[in-house]
Amino acid sequence: RAKADGGSTFRCFKPEMDAWVQARRRRENNLREAFARGELSLSYQPLIDAATQRVCAFEALLRWTDPVEGPISPGEFIPLAEETGLIGPIGAWVLRQACREAAAWPDPVRIAVNLSPVQFRNRELVRTVAEALEAAGLAPQRLELEITESVLLAENDANVATLHALRALGVRIAMDDFGTGYSSLGYLRSFPFDKIKIDRSFISQVGENPHCNAIVRAVTGLGASLGIATTAEGVETAAQFAHLQAEGCSEVQGFLFSRPLTAEAARALLAQDGAEAAHRLGTAA
Ligand code: C2E
Ligand code: MG
Ligand code: MG
Ligand code: MG
Repeated sequence: RAKADGGSTFRCFKPEMDAWVQARRRRENNLREAFARGELSLSYQPLIDAATQRVCAFEALLRWTDPVEGPISPGEFIPLAEETGLIGPIGAWVLRQACREAAAWPDPVRIAVNLSPVQFRNRELVRTVAEALEAAGLAPQRLELEITESVLLAENDANVATLHALRALGVRIAMDDFGTGYSSLGYLRSFPFDKIKIDRSFISQVGENPHCNAIVRAVTGLGASLGIATTAEGVETAAQFAHLQAEGCSEVQGFLFSRPLTAEAARALLAQDGAEAAHRLGTAA
């Protein structure tokens, strides 16, 4: 009898599993085809210099709008791309596209590109980055690569070597989502990062929650003593910004300043930003 029950449970469960597997396979094919048809795009979110309040960089953020399902968030399709290996070609495209776009911006403005830990499994990563820079004619100092702690999990020597090789190209390496990993401080010892991005989960309560205040103070202080720039991500209110400025955070990013923009809107913002700066300096024509 028990066996029969188990069997019926299995029979009930199986069609659901099939549906799940099918939906996943469909989405996987959709992503592959969307990429092949050139339907993925990049958004650009400004990073603001906290002292001058001018745009100093943009972060490239991948976007996918399915003709039927509408916009699908990176939180959903990046893991899919990672599991299927599509992140290799997609990531290489992101690098090429982002570098090409940044080459049209005024000289000091940088581009930040997110790298998946899966991209580090490919020995060609350093060459892919070098080729993207060269094809765009972009100076390496203007490219910032954002990695998360999973790249350094288990003291991965091969990945640390790759990070050194990337930096030898002249690009900057940023630790993304700082504070959310298992051993964020340990990762700072594994590799000398150029920048720390304090995770949004700490920023959302800064100024209100004494624990978040203490953590932000500790991280900006740590950055200052290590000579590492600090960026706060997810800044949404003027009060948060004032607090971060007072703590000596170098750069800020968030909806308070701008949502991610189309390439055209990013260019327009830079033109306006440049004109305002020239006006402030009394150099406007
Ligand atoms: P991330 O690298 O930490 O990027 C910041 C995310 O925070 C972006 O979400 C951005 O839209 C969002 N954000 C920025 N300011 C605010 C704010 O003030 N409030 C709130 N609520 N959110 C804010 P998005 O675009 O959905 O990207 C999510 C994640 O997907 C990224 O997190 C990154 O890990 C990954 N991702 C995006 N593009 C790429 C890519 O080209 N390659 C790889 N490997 N990962 C990517
Ligand atoms: Mg990022
Ligand atoms: Mg981040
Ligand atoms: Mg994040």
